[in-house]
Amino acid sequence: MTLPTDSDPRSSSAATDRSRRDSLTASGLATVGLAITTHPAATSAQAARTPAPSVGFGPYSAEGMAAYSPTGPLKRQTIQRRALGPKDVAIKLHYCGVCHSDIHTIHGDWGPIQYPQIVGHELAGEVVALGASAAQFRVGSRVGVGCMVNSCRHCAECTAGFEQFCENGNTQTYASKDRDGSITQGGYSTFVVVDEDFVVAVPESIDLAEAGPMMCAGITVYSPLRRWNVGPGKNIAVSGLGGLGHMAVKIAAAMGADVTVITTSPGKAPDARRFGAKDVIVSHTRTDWEKYTRSFDFILDTVPYRYNIDPIIPMLKRDATLCRVGVGKLADPNEFGQMVLVGARNAIAGSNTGGIRETQEMIDFCALHKIKPEIAKIPMSGIYDAWSKVVAKQARYRFVVDVNA
Ligand code: ZN
Ligand code: ZN
Repeated sequence: MTLPTDSDPRSSSAATDRSRRDSLTASGLATVGLAITTHPAATSAQAARTPAPSVGFGPYSAEGMAAYSPTGPLKRQTIQRRALGPKDVAIKLHYCGVCHSDIHTIHGDWGPIQYPQIVGHELAGEVVALGASAAQFRVGSRVGVGCMVNSCRHCAECTAGFEQFCENGNTQTYASKDRDGSITQGGYSTFVVVDEDFVVAVPESIDLAEAGPMMCAGITVYSPLRRWNVGPGKNIAVSGLGGLGHMAVKIAAAMGADVTVITTSPGKAPDARRFGAKDVIVSHTRTDWEKYTRSFDFILDTVPYRYNIDPIIPMLKRDATLCRVGVGKLADPNEFGQMVLVGARNAIAGSNTGGIRETQEMIDFCALHKIKPEIAKIPMSGIYDAWSKVVAKQARYRFVVDVNA
C-alpha cells in the first residue's frame, strides 16, 4: 500500500486548515469551542464563505433515521451525541452516502445487531465546534468521516497507518461498541462528534454531496488499487459496476491503467465506457470468457453477493490476484472451484477500506484528477426506498442522503 511517509501526511487541504489554525493560534483566538464565527486572517475561498456558527461543547441532540428491526422501514429517532472530548470535533452533517454495507448490517447479514440502529458511513459536513486540544481543523472546515471513528492507536497496524486492521479492533462508525460502552450510531443523522484523527479534510473542489461516497466506496477501491500497483501499462478488470465499481473504474483509469468492466447489466456498458473503461464484458451464459484468458494483471471484485467467480479467475495472468472488496451474506459465502487457482498460480485476496492517511490521499487524488461519484440525492424519508433500488441493482450509482431534507 502506498502511504505517505511524511510525518504530517495529510493533504494540501488539511495543510490549509492547519495553516489557518496556526494563524488562529497566533492571533490568540484558538481557544477552541468558543464561538469563533469569523476570522480576520481568513483569505481563502473557503474562509470567505459564511462559516457555520459554533455550537458550544455539547452534548448535542441529533435527528437520525433508525432501523427498528431487520426488515421494517426506517423511522426518525432523536439521539444524543457526546459532549466534546479534548480531541473531538463536532460536525454538522450535510450528506451521507448509502452503502450496501448499511443494508447488510441492518438485515443482520453480518451477524445480529441491536435495534434501533442508525447506519451510514459516508459522512460529509462542516465542523461547528472543536474540543480543547483539537488542532487539525477549524470551525467551518469541510470534512468527511468514513467507516471508522477510533482505533487503539498503538498496535503495529495503527502505528503503520492501517487503522482499518487495528489488532485490538477499531471502532466502526455504526453498530460498534464505543469507548463509553454505547453502540455507535451512523451518518443518517444531522450531527456527529468524532475524534479529529478520524476526520478527513474535503478539498475545496469537491462538493460535500460528492465527498460522502468517497469515504467508503472511494477508499475501499483506492486502497487495493494502490496495494496491487495499478498504473500505466497494467490491464485490469473491475467486476461489478455499482457504488464501489464505478469509483474503481474512474480511479483506476486516472491511475493510468487499461480498465475492463465485468457486469451482469448490459445497460451499464455505455456508462462503464463513460467512466473510463476501454472494454466491457457482459456476464451471461453465452459470454466468451476464453477470449480474455490470461488478460488481466489484477481484478477488483466489488460484487457484494455470492456469485460464480470461476469463469473470471482464468482471465488473470500468471501470479495475478483477484481482490474481493464486496462482502456478501456470511451465511451465503462465495465458493470457487478447487482447480481454478492452480492453472496460473493465481491468488484470491480481500481488502477492507483504508487507513485515515490513505483516505486523505484518496480524496486529494480524486480532487487532482477531477473524479466524482455519480450521485442521486434523496431525503431522509427516501432511504428505505433507495435501499430497495440498491438491492435491485437500480442505483446509478450512489444514493446520497441530504440529512437536512
Ligand atoms: Zn460502505
Ligand atoms: Zn490498533
